[in-house]
This record gives sequence, structure tokens and C-alpha cells, in this order.
Amino acid sequence: MSFAALTRLQQGLAALQADHLERRRLLLDGAQGAQITINGQRVVSFCSNDYLGLAADPAVIAAGHAALDQCGVGAGAAHLITGHHRYHQDFETAFAQFVGKPAALLFSTGYMANLAVLTALAGRRHLDRGGEVFGDKLNHASLVDAAQLSGATFTRYRHGDLAQLESQLTKSDAPDKLIVSDLVFSMDGDIAPVDALLDLAERHDAWLFLDDAHGFGVLNDGRGGLTERARASDRVIYLATLGKAAGVSGAAVAAHAAVIDWLVQRARSYIYTTASPPMLAACLLESLHQIEAGEVRRERLRSHIMQLRQGLAGLTLGVLMPSGTPIQPLVIGANADAVRASQALLQHGLLVPAIRTPTVPVNTARLRITLSAAHSADDVAQLIEALHALG
Ligand SMILES: *Cc1c(COP(=O)(O)O)cnc(C)c1O
Repeated sequence: MSFAALTRLQQGLAALQADHLERRRLLLDGAQGAQITINGQRVVSFCSNDYLGLAADPAVIAAGHAALDQCGVGAGAAHLITGHHRYHQDFETAFAQFVGKPAALLFSTGYMANLAVLTALAGRRHLDRGGEVFGDKLNHASLVDAAQLSGATFTRYRHGDLAQLESQLTKSDAPDKLIVSDLVFSMDGDIAPVDALLDLAERHDAWLFLDDAHGFGVLNDGRGGLTERARASDRVIYLATLGKAAGVSGAAVAAHAAVIDWLVQRARSYIYTTASPPMLAACLLESLHQIEAGEVRRERLRSHIMQLRQGLAGLTLGVLMPSGTPIQPLVIGANADAVRASQALLQHGLLVPAIRTPTVPVNTARLRITLSAAHSADDVAQLIEALHALG
């Protein structure tokens, strides 16, 4: 039985396939880690965001088991009904203290947390007049969607172009201004100029919202990419996602207590959804301990980053972008070439994703190599050798 709307979908899918833009999910068996089984093949994976190897850490797993036995699986209700468990609360307190902010709020996902912050602080619905959101053009898709869905005026500035941002701020007469940036850019691995952004926020009386999905757990003793000034500033709102270096799931927003309270009152993606299983918050508490005590893991990660960058000097296959973070993008150029390189690596048992347009700008398709403390020096050496062989 076909009907017009279904036929249009089928044509859309066929067009994606023809343009090599069709997405396919790989099938994972067993635990996430440096060595994984994907589509039945054992590979070394260079594509997870499990930067510290905590996703299958025995202490985190044990904390989850204990909490499961004690409080079951489902939270059963939203946070504002009866779903707010002591584990959620304890994690919020511990997280706020660790990142050096007065208060924190735990969300089920980073996507929902970003939607909450932009909507509640700059959106059309809850303020007398909508605000204006200023975002870096390379911000994560969830921030772009959140800005659009909030109904705020949405203005984008060229990646890292603070002069353009300043002129946009000067022109704005919005009562509530919010600057939003990835702290570590997810496809490039570079770090936002936090203090310079804060200068602009102060000069133009704006909020500064920093999404540290890829810096939390990794940068500055694990406390993430905030500078001391940004930690101390009441205008800075900090987000860490907890499915990456923390190895679990969810996201936490840390900020002035009034911001957190406002989110509890007004953020619809916090209010109108079931609380995450308390067991996950128990895992997060243990993961936070591991991050705090994680200097050995971070040292191993830093050494892998150095090994890769030194090992790929003089590579002919592509250009390694300047990055000191676990995200090490190797720019190849055309979509098809990046896909071919990714497929060739897979034949050597090395899983490295090809990131294509429209996720990244045209002709900058890349192999997005991510490193983890769970890798061995030998894993990294294998990748270096295979990449030279391809080039
Ligand atoms: C992964 C990511 C998110 C989304 O977080 P989830 O918890 O996976 O929904 C948000 N922002 C950035 C920069 C990310 O990389």
C-alpha cells in the first residue's frame, strides 16, 4: 500500500543513497572500549568518546549493580513528581563542587540540557520578550537545534571570529543575550577562547554558556576547560555531557543557584520527562570519583595524543588539524576519499569514522580519530603505520 507521503520518503532515501550520504548503524556486541566487536568483526576502535576508558570500568559497573539491587531500574516519575532520587541529588552536589560552581542540575542527555538552557534563558516563551542567542558556526548540532527551537533570535558568528561576534552584540537590542559555544569543538578538537568570550559577555551584559562535552574529565585535572575566571563568574553556565569521558549517560549543567532554580521551574525538557534511572546517577558518582583520581588515565591519554601527532608528521594521506585534545581530525577532502580511507583501515581491523558533509564543511571530509586512555601504545602505533601505508 503506497501513498504520496510514503513515496516521497522513499524517494528521499534513494536520493541520500545516490549521494553517498546514507547513514548506516554499525552493530556493537559486548562492551564499549578500545577493542570492540562491531558487525561481528573484532577491531581496535578510534571512534568512541570514552576518553578515559570508564564506560566499562569495574568500579563503575559495581556501583551500578549495587544501586540496581537497592532501588530497581526505572525512576518511575519525573523529577518534579517523585522521580528525584537521592543518587541524582548527591551527584548534582558532587558535580557542582568538582567543577567549582555553586549548583548543578542533572539531565537525561546533553541534547535535552542544551534545549533547556537556551529555551529557559533566551527563549520566547518564558521571558517578556525573546532574547538573542549568539553561537559559533561550528557549534554542536544540539546547540543549533536548541537555539532554533527556543524561538530566540539566533545569530551565528564565524568559527572563533570574536570581532564579528562583538559587532553582532553591539547591534543587538535584545534584553537577554546569550553567547553559546562548544568549549572543545567536537569535529575539530580545538578549544574556544574562554576568557575572551567572557570579556565580551561582560562588556555586553550577556550570559556565556559553554558546552564542554569533550573537555570534562579530560582537561585541567578532569574539571574541564573552564578557566579560573570563568569558574568564578556568575554569568558563565557550564555544561558537561556524561556519556563521553564520564563513560555513563546524561549531562549536568552547573551555574549560579538562581540559574539552576530557574531551569527547575521553567525548562520543559527537564520538567516533562521521566527522571533517568537512579542507578545511572550512582554510576556517575563513582565515575566522578574515578575522574577526580584519574591523573594516570589522563597521562596515558596525553601520551597517546603525542605519539599519534609525532607519528603522523609527514603523512601524505591528509592533514592532521592542530589539536591537543583526544579529538584528532585528519582532513582528507572529498567525501568519497574519506569513506575509502575509512574502509581501507577497517580491513586492517582499525575502526575510524569518516565524517562527511553536512556534518563538516564541504571538501573537509575527515577521519575523526579519537583516542582513549583505554588504548595501548601498540594500538596507536598500528594506526600510525596503517595511515602511512594508505598515503
Ligand atoms: C555529544 C554532544 C552533545 C550531546 O550530548 P548527549 O548527552 O550525547 O545528548 C552536546 N554537545 C556536544 C558538543 C556534544 O559533543
